[in-house]
Amino acid sequence: MKVPFVDFASPYLELKDPLDAAYHRFMESAWYVLGSEVEAFELEYAKYCGSEHCIGVGNGLDALHLILRAYEIGAGDEVLVPSNTYIATWLAVSHVGATPIPVEPDPRTHNIDPERIHAAITPRTKAILVVHLYGLPADMDPILQIARKRGLLVIEDAAQAQGARYKGRRVGALGDAAGHSFYPTKNLGAFGDAGAITTNDTRLAERIRSLRNYGSKKRYYNECKGVNSRLDELQAAFLRVKLRKLDEWNARRQAIARLYMEALADKESLHLPCVPQWAEPVWHLFVVRHARRDVLQKQLNELGIQTLIHYPVPPHLSGAYADAHLPLGSLPIAEALAATVLSLPLGSHTRSGQAAYVAEKTRQAASEY
Ligand SMILES: *Cc1c(COP(=O)(O)O)cnc(C)c1O
Repeated sequence: MKVPFVDFASPYLELKDPLDAAYHRFMESAWYVLGSEVEAFELEYAKYCGSEHCIGVGNGLDALHLILRAYEIGAGDEVLVPSNTYIATWLAVSHVGATPIPVEPDPRTHNIDPERIHAAITPRTKAILVVHLYGLPADMDPILQIARKRGLLVIEDAAQAQGARYKGRRVGALGDAAGHSFYPTKNLGAFGDAGAITTNDTRLAERIRSLRNYGSKKRYYNECKGVNSRLDELQAAFLRVKLRKLDEWNARRQAIARLYMEALADKESLHLPCVPQWAEPVWHLFVVRHARRDVLQKQLNELGIQTLIHYPVPPHLSGAYADAHLPLGSLPIAEALAATVLSLPLGSHTRSGQAAYVAEKTRQAASEY
C-alpha cells in the first residue's frame, strides 16, 4: 500500500462540478480583480468565523504583515511569537521592521506557553502573535488576560486552524485580529495562493482594505503607501465552494486522528498529540514525537508511508535569523521538538484503510526501539 502525505487529486474530483461551474461563472463575468466573488467570500468567511469583518488578501504571510502594519507596529517594537512556529509568523514581524521575540511552547500542546509570556514582555512589546499550531487552538484566555493587563494586542495566526474551536468559539475572532492562509495544503485550501484577515475592529478592517489595494479606497486617490495583495477573484470563487465542505472535511480529519490516537495510545516510545478538554482541533497535522524520529521516518518510508517534519529547523536557527544571534541551545524546547517531531499522513481524503495501515506499521516500528 502507498500512503501519500497529501492527496491533491481527490478534493478536486469530489467537487469537480461546482468548482468547474465556479470557473465558468468567473470567466463569463469577465471581472478579474476585487469583484463579486471576493466580496461574497469575505461575507461568508466572516460569518463562518463569527467575526464582523473579513478582508481577502494574497496569502497568509501578507495577512499577518498587513495586520501589524495597520496597527502601526514597526521599527523599535517587539512582538512575542512562538519559538516553534512556521517561519512565516516571524517574517511577518520582521517585514514591518519590528523584532520577533520568541516564547517557548508547552511541549505537550506545541502551543505558546502562557506561563512564559510575562517574562518576555518589555516596555517595547506591542503584541502577542499567537499560533494555533497544527490546528489545535492555543490557550487564549490566560493570554488575553495578560494582554489586557499589559495593554498588548493579541493577533491570531490561524493559518493552520480553519474551523477549530476554543471553548466552543471558532478561531479567527478570539483576539484583536487574525491572519488566515488558504495555501493549497491548509484545511481550507485554494488552488493557488490566497489569504484573509478576520477582525471585529472596524477601523482596522478599513485600513487593511486600503493597504491591500495600493493604499487607496477610491481609484487613483492614495491615502497611504499600500501594497498589492488582493485575494484573487478566481481563488475566491473556488474557496466559496470549498468553504461549504470545510466542516465535513474537518470531521473526516477528526475521525482519522481518533483512529491514530486509539491505535497508538499504549506506545510509550511515542508521544501523541495532547488535546486539552476545552479544545476542538481540526488536525491540520497529526504530529507525534519519537526519540529516534529519523529511523522511524525511514522505516515508514520503506513501507510506502510518506511522512513529513514540521519543522526540521526552528526559525532562530535558520539562515534567515542568523542576525538575531540566538545560538543553538538558546531555545531548548523548540530545538528538542524540531529533533523529534514527525507528521503522519492525515487529510480530508485519507482513507480509513490507509490510516489503519499507517497506525499498524507505526505501532510495529515503535515497538522495536
Ligand atoms: C502557512 C502558514 C503561514 C503562511 O501562509 P502563506 O499563505 O503560505 O503565506 C503562516 N503561518 C503559519 C503557521 C502557516 O502554517
